[in-house]
Amino acid sequence: MIATPLPPDFIPFNRPHLAGPELEYIRQAVAAGKLSGNGEFTQRCQQFLEQRYGLAKALLTTSGTDALEMAALLLNIQPGDEVIVPSYTFTSTANAFVLRGARIVFADSQPNHPNMDVRTVAALLTPRTRAIVLVHYGGQVSEHLPDVLALAHRHGLWVVEDAAQAIEARYQGQPLGTFGQLAAFSFHETKNISAGEGGLLAINDPALMARAEIIWEKGTNRAAFHRGEAARYEWVDVGSSFLASELNAAYLWAQLQSIEAIQQQRRQLWEYYAMALEPLAASGAIRLLPQLPQAQPNWHVFALLCADEAERDALLQHLRQCHILAVFHYLPLHQSPYYAPLHDGRPLPHAERYARTLVRLPLFHDLTREQQNRVIAAIQAFYHQ
Ligand SMILES: *Cc1c(COP(=O)(O)O)cnc(C)c1O
Repeated sequence: MIATPLPPDFIPFNRPHLAGPELEYIRQAVAAGKLSGNGEFTQRCQQFLEQRYGLAKALLTTSGTDALEMAALLLNIQPGDEVIVPSYTFTSTANAFVLRGARIVFADSQPNHPNMDVRTVAALLTPRTRAIVLVHYGGQVSEHLPDVLALAHRHGLWVVEDAAQAIEARYQGQPLGTFGQLAAFSFHETKNISAGEGGLLAINDPALMARAEIIWEKGTNRAAFHRGEAARYEWVDVGSSFLASELNAAYLWAQLQSIEAIQQQRRQLWEYYAMALEPLAASGAIRLLPQLPQAQPNWHVFALLCADEAERDALLQHLRQCHILAVFHYLPLHQSPYYAPLHDGRPLPHAERYARTLVRLPLFHDLTREQQNRVIAAIQAFYHQ
């Protein structure tokens, strides 16, 4: 296939950002002669995030998907166990548990936000329910967070946060990723802080720490052995190769050192869209997602909602003609080719509606004011405003 060259004024949906020292740190990792996982740069990244968020333990992984798969292994999810997952999310949120044989019980989104409607969860619990997976869509916490934590506590259920999009976001000052026993972050290219591909398992329950390290290191006691805590390096449990290479960790370390500047830039870009598009929302042409007073967002996603699917498709096409790539997501997992035959048949109308009407605008560190003005003008032209 021959790719058509992009027009010179094309505005991509995302573009990776270099904070500065990425290549120098990669050079240092190469010079140190240690490229496999759990080296100097991995330690720095893990300690930085442990301290910044107050995590009991952080383990750097090759992806957010891997961190979720580690969580499912660590919680001993077995065939027949049930796990509550929002339908409006990325496949990995559910797939990690499906790999262990779990049955996924999908929950609907909130009427006013793509996050899972926590008020519908109690009715989905059965004696087989083991865990609730909370996705913080666009880095935004659900206003019902305390309710879901209380519900899980009452029923003895694990809470796993899919915080893939939620780095630096907070609820009443407390970082997201510290509310569940476990949380998964992602450093995929499209996330605020990136390593190309990368992730992190945050462990908030100290009782899970020792086994997490073993699962991380292919079922061996390698980490404990290197600390002198084990007499022999041997196979002690199940596991896989979940560690990230030092090359990825070196890149990530450069990004983490600039985390505040990166977030500040995203905030400015996000707030500019919000300010410019507010009149369209006020006129009822589009809807914007509500912001919670108790939540400190991380400006990961700028989304707007169209009236229906036809309008959404026309808007995306119009933007495309203006050389702007905006995208939609997610196709609800309960309707996916893989899971639809396994789903219990309940319609999930809000998840289905976000899939038909939500549009994500280009949002990345090096997006210029001029480019943003073009995106805004194109949307205004579409709605004749
Ligand atoms: C990005 C993302 C993932 C997967 O993270 P990877 O690092 O790409 O594996 C999982 N869940 C959600 C909600 C995501 O946005």
